[in-house]
Amino acid sequence: MTTPATVTPNAHHRLSGHEVVLLLQTDAHRGLTDEAARERFDRFGPNTLPAPRGSSLALRILRQFHHPLIYVLLGAGAVTAALQAYVDSAVIFGVVIVNAIVGLIQESRAEAELQSLRTMVHTDATVVRDGREQVIASDELVPGDLVHVEAGDKIPADIRLLRQTELRIDESALTGESLSVSKDEVILPETTPVADRRNMAYSGTLVTAGTGAGIVVATGAETEIGEIHRLVGAADVTATPLTEKLAWFSKILTVGILGLAAATFVIGLLREQDAVEMFTAAIALAVGAIPEGLPAAVTITLAIGVARMAKRRAVVRRLPAVETLGSTTVICADKTGTLTENQMTVREIWTPDGSVEASGSGYAPTGALQLRDGAQASIDANAALRWSLLAGAACNDAALTRDGERWDIAGDPTEVAMLVVAAKTGLTADHLGAALPRVTTLPFSSERQYMATLHSSGNDGHVVLVKGAVERILELSNTQMGADGALSPIDRRAVLQAVDALAAKGLRVLATGVRSPADGADLTEEALRGTVTLTGLQAMLDPPRAAAVPAVAACHSAGIAVKMITGDHARTAGAIAGAVGLLDPDQPVDREILTGTELSEIPSDEYDDAVERANVFARVSPEQKLRLVEALQDKGHIVAMTGDGVNDAPALRQANIGVAMGRGGTEVAKDAADMVLTDDDFATIEAAVEEGRGVFDNLTKFITWTLPTNIAEGLVIMVAIALGTALPILPTQILWINMTTAVALGLMLAFEPKEAGIMTRAPRDPGQPLLTRALVERILLVSILLVAGSWVLFEWELSRGAMESEARTAALNLFVTVEAFYLFSCRSLTRSAWRIGLFTNRWLIVGVSVQIVAQLAITYLPVMNTVFQTAPLDLGVWLRIVGIALVASLVVAVDKWLRARVGNLPR
Ligand code: ATP
Repeated sequence: MTTPATVTPNAHHRLSGHEVVLLLQTDAHRGLTDEAARERFDRFGPNTLPAPRGSSLALRILRQFHHPLIYVLLGAGAVTAALQAYVDSAVIFGVVIVNAIVGLIQESRAEAELQSLRTMVHTDATVVRDGREQVIASDELVPGDLVHVEAGDKIPADIRLLRQTELRIDESALTGESLSVSKDEVILPETTPVADRRNMAYSGTLVTAGTGAGIVVATGAETEIGEIHRLVGAADVTATPLTEKLAWFSKILTVGILGLAAATFVIGLLREQDAVEMFTAAIALAVGAIPEGLPAAVTITLAIGVARMAKRRAVVRRLPAVETLGSTTVICADKTGTLTENQMTVREIWTPDGSVEASGSGYAPTGALQLRDGAQASIDANAALRWSLLAGAACNDAALTRDGERWDIAGDPTEVAMLVVAAKTGLTADHLGAALPRVTTLPFSSERQYMATLHSSGNDGHVVLVKGAVERILELSNTQMGADGALSPIDRRAVLQAVDALAAKGLRVLATGVRSPADGADLTEEALRGTVTLTGLQAMLDPPRAAAVPAVAACHSAGIAVKMITGDHARTAGAIAGAVGLLDPDQPVDREILTGTELSEIPSDEYDDAVERANVFARVSPEQKLRLVEALQDKGHIVAMTGDGVNDAPALRQANIGVAMGRGGTEVAKDAADMVLTDDDFATIEAAVEEGRGVFDNLTKFITWTLPTNIAEGLVIMVAIALGTALPILPTQILWINMTTAVALGLMLAFEPKEAGIMTRAPRDPGQPLLTRALVERILLVSILLVAGSWVLFEWELSRGAMESEARTAALNLFVTVEAFYLFSCRSLTRSAWRIGLFTNRWLIVGVSVQIVAQLAITYLPVMNTVFQTAPLDLGVWLRIVGIALVASLVVAVDKWLRARVGNLPR
């Protein structure tokens, strides 16, 4: 068995590349054998970080008690025990424990939900094993693997570099240094700190430029990032601006309420009421009025929202995004791959001496090139056509391989399309590799917008092939090629006319060119300028995604503007934009579509307006994207922006919601994004917005439901003390109400399905307070109804000669019944409960049933009667309870109806 020897951990930087290869018993070019890789996998395990340890169970349990309210309860429990009211004391301690358990379960569930999302977006690694390059899940890497990395990749393990070309890596994840550092292969002194080890690439860091190859020296927990992970442990994954605001709100509230409770106690004493009774009352007030379940309910609702989004293929990486999504006012989407399928097929090739059409579809190179008259086109009869196909296929990094009946593709779909069309004429990769071996490459980038390759063409001659955006190739060319191979001065007008005609059909047009051997072997931008001969235009179809059309329409009706940002030609972009419904027919086209050049010429005081008006931005460079986001934000928009490349990262970070592509996107973009689309589809963003709105709705509903109970409980006690009457409800009973209804009733609102009209209303203004005036009014209305109802019933029962315990049991049950009825009303803040249908949220029925059983238990079980000082009720009392609850519900319903009529609905 081959097993690598060990070195001092993390000291591979002091060895030469050759020594590392020997030490890890691998091969600098062929990598490990498949067998060795398997053996090492068994020995070292998967290349993953151990699940974050989080805090220990004991610590997490303890944390549940770290809350001002719990301190109050613990204090109250201790005092009641000292006063020998052991039953009360036991109830209070019982509630504290139940509260801790419920909190722990909720917290763990929410965290598990969020953590599981991490595994939905996985990283691939390019590895060479047995001499064959292959893409595997980065989990499968083992020490000794030979790995290739390129711009946009996340480094999958700790690697000692063997080779690199202009490799630059952003190591901020490890060192905090935000500027990317350049790498090389030299040997370094052992004492070199991690941040200066230029010959190493560390797991979790991001390649911002260049390419490199190296040997994996550490995987999983053994990597530098694994070490940090072990030290730091899990970060708090559940905090968002909203949860923090609410936690703060409930702390302030607690302090305020404690003050009120103390005041109540003092007032009571001054009125010479019994000190013990007054103390109990003060506790009841504190316990009742503090909305203790609020933060937990908010976290749970957010977590459920995240899970729902994941089901619709939008993986949220940062929880605050869930909140922000609901307020999105503009979505800026890439064209290629997001609004279109990103499945390219070359349909037409234009050459200065005539065009041909390509038949066949898909990746199989079956089909032929035809002339306009239907006759088969021959590449021997048209030199420009042949050179165009050659450039398309040889100045190309994609691969097309046959696997039995199937054709497998790898690489950029634009390049695949050009490979396929060349293969239709017999120009295959094997053929080209032999005839025109590649010497060097000027790689494609979104800034350069073209790619060039230098090939040796026998007899020590060289030829340069180029392909790219038409404007760029025109900048390089002074001549064009005829069918006979002769060069003539380029006819720019004819070329641009041809481009316009093709782009107007929605085709993506790339130009091809060639530079003859006479012009030397330099492959730099300067050397290319003015020396290239245009050979042709290849026009490819990339159909709009079927789901994009309804999704764009849904966004528009939801008051969300959709803008296309693309590196492609303005005409092509305009045609696709028209096809998916992005263009506003009432606006002139030159306001609708702006190109990168036009953008850079707009005076800065008109920039923001022009950007807000336009719907398509074509030939835009990644740098301009950042400026676009800023302009829209200056106009007060909440911007969701998609991106996939390394250079999109700044714009993704700047956007309120950065959206990366799970399939086509680079790791750098995913890292900068708040949300990743696992299917790259525009419709998924729209779905996520819809879910985001749903989450916010459910949060508001929960708060609207829970606050009246707290306010009413506090008020009932205060009024009783002010009037010097018996308490209609005792502290332990208030604890019962709060605990049971929060879990059995309130939480069920988190499972509430989205309301029907959720995507036909305007986006929520993020500056708007959580509770609008209309909602506050409703909360106060219900509070007053609760206070009045329980008071009336309590006094009514007493006047009928009932014992205090019976009257209290009636008041307690009234509270719960009104809450249960009100729960159905809160399912929609605007529509009546009947309209939604009683059974559309099954969880609600389950919750209400559980609550009914609980109420029967506290009312009729002798042990509960003792503990909670309750007493059995007869049927008449129940009828009165239900009667009052119905009246209260009717009042709320009438309020809703009246507000709907005058257009003063909450929200
Ligand atoms: P989007 O921004 O919507 O994804 P895009 O794919 O057209 O659109 P870029 O990838 O920035 O955006 O490409 C810009 C232009 O560069 C393209 O319109 C095309 O003309 C040219 N181009 C794209 N891919 C290649 C390639 N592999 N080689 C040469 N030129 C290319």
